Amino acid sequence: MLGLMMAEPLRVATIIEHAAKWHGDTEVVSRLPEGGIHRYTYADANRRSKQLAQALLKLGIENGDRVGTLAWNTHRHFELYYGVAGIGAVCHTINPRLFPEQLVFIINHAEDRLLFFDLTFLPLVERLAPVCPTVEKWVLMAGPTHLPKDSALPGLCSYEDLLGAETSDYAWPTFDENTACSLCYTSGTTDQPKGVLYSHRSTVLHAFSISLPDALNCSAADVVMPVVPMFHVNAWGLPYAAPLNGAKLVLPGAGMDSASLFELFETEKVTFSAGVPTIWLALLQFMREGQRRFGTLRRTVVGGASCPPALMKAFEEELGVTIMHAWGMTETSPLGTAGHLKAHHAGLNPADSLAIRTKQGRVVFGVDMKIVGDDGQGLPHDGVAFGDLLVRGPWVVRDYFRSHTPGELTADGWFRTGDVATIDPDGYMHITDRSKDVIKSGGEWISSIDLENLAIAHPAVAEAAVIGVPSAKWSERPLLIVVRRPGMEVSGEELLAFFRGKVAKFCEPDAVAFVEKLPHTATGKLLKTQLRKEFAGYSVA
Ligand code: ADP
Repeated sequence: MLGLMMAEPLRVATIIEHAAKWHGDTEVVSRLPEGGIHRYTYADANRRSKQLAQALLKLGIENGDRVGTLAWNTHRHFELYYGVAGIGAVCHTINPRLFPEQLVFIINHAEDRLLFFDLTFLPLVERLAPVCPTVEKWVLMAGPTHLPKDSALPGLCSYEDLLGAETSDYAWPTFDENTACSLCYTSGTTDQPKGVLYSHRSTVLHAFSISLPDALNCSAADVVMPVVPMFHVNAWGLPYAAPLNGAKLVLPGAGMDSASLFELFETEKVTFSAGVPTIWLALLQFMREGQRRFGTLRRTVVGGASCPPALMKAFEEELGVTIMHAWGMTETSPLGTAGHLKAHHAGLNPADSLAIRTKQGRVVFGVDMKIVGDDGQGLPHDGVAFGDLLVRGPWVVRDYFRSHTPGELTADGWFRTGDVATIDPDGYMHITDRSKDVIKSGGEWISSIDLENLAIAHPAVAEAAVIGVPSAKWSERPLLIVVRRPGMEVSGEELLAFFRGKVAKFCEPDAVAFVEKLPHTATGKLLKTQLRKEFAGYSVA
């Protein structure tokens, strides 16, 4: 027997429609790549998304067609999220920090028909266009005055001209909630980029779930500034969760440096933010240097890579900002787990509370997870046994876009994350490593992440990476690679001594190498494949 409730398909456009109707005067503020601050409301955003939708239809964009974006976090990118998905087409966000060859691969693989880009990326797209034959039209996300005098870009026009020719007299259509709405390629940290094709259903359910108190806790009382880019995994869903809840949205554009971010935090009275550890490490240094304090920022989500406990502690004790540690992947939309305490943790001392909250956290409803050994059998949730982390749920990938290889799913339908983790009796998951980064020393497994987190707690260390290097006796041993803080001195011996008594003897790094800077992926994570190449000849006695 079927239930008798209304069968409203979940659709992304209903979020902006809701925000326009019930939070119509709530602001969306953007720092524009072409300069200046832009300010309007959710009601304006909905109107302009509808103008965009009509422009796309006139250009012949049909259900399922891919529309690419190479863009920062701005109101125009926000409109593309809704305008493209709203008509049943697919908003393909492209990470401009990828290598040009990867960009070409991705655009051609997705067969993007239109490509919207920010002024910053004009030189880049002029190089890409001749080798991206599927793109019929390139649209500069600015007003006509910014159009280059002469350009060979096919069909080049300005975003504002495109919208200016349309009215907002348009009703968002209804279609199957399983229709694709956006596409994001993984950054290829360990492999070629692979396309993750989100659906309206997965996106709306994910936006609901991340709004919950034990997830990102997003409300109409918040001013939200996603520092995490809209070109990677939909800025962790915040461009959907903010309007869904009626929170004011602040979009930092190309100004990702600490000074520009701090200025927006203060002028727009931001209460809540989100970004990868690298952003917060830089911001911490900036805040310390100028003895600055946040006026309104109270909490931030840190994820995408392990959040060092020292960072969490410093933000909380020195700046009064609570860090919520979260784990996820492009393939999981991204939220899988978040690290909040439970009722029985009340009264814990700060050190024990920190130890729990620096784990990657508990699953949110909708996601299920387990850890398995090499034989595929489930391992106990005792906080000690570690194994391959598997997840499933309505916003977890089933297969990659146009992949011709068998998916990453197990025979019984779980997604292999490629992460190695423990789960404790309270359900807190702790990532020990990516399976490809774990160091296998004499039959024991050493977590590179744990060692990096410890190294970063040393006052002279700005950034640290740990990789396995060959050892005749142990097969692999940990090498610590360190970037020193500007103006600080520390020797390799001092750093090695810093580990003593803090980790098991066999986990202590064997050697330290100092470098000027560490290689990062397009999403700001340590690029260990590159480090392993650079240190290929290195071996420890
Ligand atoms: P890529 O595109 O590089 O494959 P994603 O951006 O999808 O990667 O990142 C997913 C991976 O990032 C996870 O599988 C995990 O290894 C790592 N990761 C994400 N969040 C955390 C976290 N909080 N702690 C440790 N690792 C994390």
